[in-house]
Amino acid sequence: MTDNPNEFSPESLMMSFGHDPSLVRNSIKNPIFQTSTFEFATAEEGKAYFEKVYGGAAADELSKSLIYTRLNHPNLVTAEKRLSLLDESEESAFFESGMAAITTSLLEICKAGDLVLMSFPIYGGTDAFIKNFLPKFDVQSLAFSPDMTEEEIIKLIEAHPRKNRLACIYVETPANPTNTLIDIEMTVRIAARFSNQDKKTIVAVDNTYMGPLWQKPINHGADLIMYSATKYIGGHSDLIAGAISGSSALVSRIKKVRSGLGCMASPWTSWLISRSLETISLRMEKQASNAAKLADFLRDHPKVAKVYYVGHIAEGHKQYELAKRQMTSGGAMLAFDVVGGEAEAFRFLNAVKLAKLAVSLGSTETLTSHPFTMSSSNMSLADREAVGITPSMVRISTGIENPDDLLKDFAQAFEKV
Ligand SMILES: *Cc1c(COP(=O)(O)O)cnc(C)c1O
Repeated sequence: MTDNPNEFSPESLMMSFGHDPSLVRNSIKNPIFQTSTFEFATAEEGKAYFEKVYGGAAADELSKSLIYTRLNHPNLVTAEKRLSLLDESEESAFFESGMAAITTSLLEICKAGDLVLMSFPIYGGTDAFIKNFLPKFDVQSLAFSPDMTEEEIIKLIEAHPRKNRLACIYVETPANPTNTLIDIEMTVRIAARFSNQDKKTIVAVDNTYMGPLWQKPINHGADLIMYSATKYIGGHSDLIAGAISGSSALVSRIKKVRSGLGCMASPWTSWLISRSLETISLRMEKQASNAAKLADFLRDHPKVAKVYYVGHIAEGHKQYELAKRQMTSGGAMLAFDVVGGEAEAFRFLNAVKLAKLAVSLGSTETLTSHPFTMSSSNMSLADREAVGITPSMVRISTGIENPDDLLKDFAQAFEKV
């Protein structure tokens, strides 16, 4: 591999980084290694590889010590090297779903007697795992809302009997679907305050909404980035995958649990991801520019009561400075409240033609959905009300279509409302 990450930008290296053609008969692209096991040249070599894997050798060393596909395989290595480059992390790991990445990481970070602090609202699957599953292992949780101040969050933790056992602060920013932001650097300060010599509090950030392009949590002090790679990283609504990025020390600990649970991304999924990463800049830039046009159109439309879009946060608003410091784009996820309620929102959703009605996000096609009755329907009514998820809200994941067609589609759909 001759690509030098110090010489060229990640955008330029996504096509070739992490693949050595000389190992595969000079194939310009990495073939799919559809194999479960790897032949050792000698018994001595097999012994040496096992010593490296169980001795915790560095990732680069391990990528040359192939034993068995659940432990490591070449397509996984390529995908992980590329994501590390984008996330500016020492190491990354891919999993067979976003939930596998999140749950495997939390199982390694937490132990019996610990406390987890999470932001709220949070992805439903994560919420259920932290609240319903982790208590089986005697891990308790606390939630904070994005409008709480640093002092209020500190007081909340101080009041908990397990304040000295804070293992993890888990945040999702921007929050789905309201696009409310959480200050990552603030959570890092809080983590430092509750860390002690026995335990460093880990800050984990679910970066799915911004993808590896627009928000770099590690550069703001976070320890771990989490992704549903099903979304922007995969980017085509044709795979399920998850990922993490962080220090080699932490990611290699989580990789050991991944091998034990058996939830690594398969050769086929990893190959699709490496291929998707080649176009991630192109896709996400187009998605963001389309989203900006849609957001302006929605803001000016008489049948729209409110638009939720990071790019519209006005100078002087308390989240303006934070958005500028933490993100390099307004993103491509929007929501709006239609004038009226559920009936009017449904009329809009049933009338769009080019945009599709489906959950998930980050794909090349534009998707519309109704958080109140779909992705957020697991939340209690009171919780949905508290965080502003209303029956009149429509969520948009912007795709790469011709923006004029999207505006035309939305305009005709509003006529039916
Ligand atoms: C989709 C999603 C997940 C779960 O990922 P899967 O790939 O579906 O397992 C986690 N967090 C966020 C923010 C998501 O959007």
